Amino acid sequence: MPNLLEGKTALILGVANKWSLAYAIAQAYRREGAKLVLTYQGERIKLTVEELGQSLGADKVFQCDVTKEEELGRLTSELRNDGGLDTVMHSIAFANREDLDRPFLETSRAGYLLAQEVSAYSLVAVARATAPLMPSGGSLLTLTYLGSQRVLPNYNVMGVAKAALEATVRYLASDLGPKKIRVNAISAGPVKTASARAIKDFSVILDVVTQRAPLRRNTEPAEVGDAAVFLASDLSRGVTGNIIYVDSGFHIMGL
Ligand code: NAP
Repeated sequence: MPNLLEGKTALILGVANKWSLAYAIAQAYRREGAKLVLTYQGERIKLTVEELGQSLGADKVFQCDVTKEEELGRLTSELRNDGGLDTVMHSIAFANREDLDRPFLETSRAGYLLAQEVSAYSLVAVARATAPLMPSGGSLLTLTYLGSQRVLPNYNVMGVAKAALEATVRYLASDLGPKKIRVNAISAGPVKTASARAIKDFSVILDVVTQRAPLRRNTEPAEVGDAAVFLASDLSRGVTGNIIYVDSGFHIMGL
């Protein structure tokens, strides 16, 4: 098989550790010949992400908290000096833990706004910061979950943020299409990562998927990585504004 991302530079936001979906995506991009640039949120995980970057053969690792405009601006300047980008993977979300294990009705105003800011608005901010780095077109991707469309136990405020994220994908796809920048999301099945562990009784969701999904198994991070390769590559040149499910087919089931 040819190297599908040969000659492309990929920015990946959201590698925190080896279990991160962004890590599996970085591995798949590297396998297909992409040059990688990674970011980390803050000093707390700087060293870990630098080490992971080294093991992945990443070119550069930058700090970027997506809630800070000045850090996004700095990232744009650094990347402009480095010759721009072809594809961006936004693999970022956050909600307060207490909002993921009590009734949704109890969500605080501050908790609701925080989840929206980090998990949905940040895609707009990242798109604005990176679109100028893709002057001849590109592919912007994000990760979402079925909790945006259906009620899943304890997903709560994050489900509402993912609904906003999916609408954001469509509006960005419309704005950026004339610039030949495509915008899509992968709706991944549940995978045990640091973020997923914050959701109370997450293992119950994993069990139900193995019983009811058409493929009768949970999603492998590498499957998300391979779908991301397709969406970052020229094979998907006609695809924009889509939510593509990589979830063993679970989303089609009524019961
Ligand atoms: P993860 O490894 O915990 O990744 C989440 C990432 O978001 C971490 O790198 C985290 O950095 C980063 N982040 C949070 N706030 C940030 C900020 N202000 N600025 C920059 N980065 C920030 O968990 P994951 O499951 O792979 O999540 C990646 C994406 O996949 C998320 O959008 C998630 O909702 C989505 N997703 C996950 C699943 C699943 O079942 N795991 C299913 C569907 C979709 P820190 O660790 O430093 O906070």
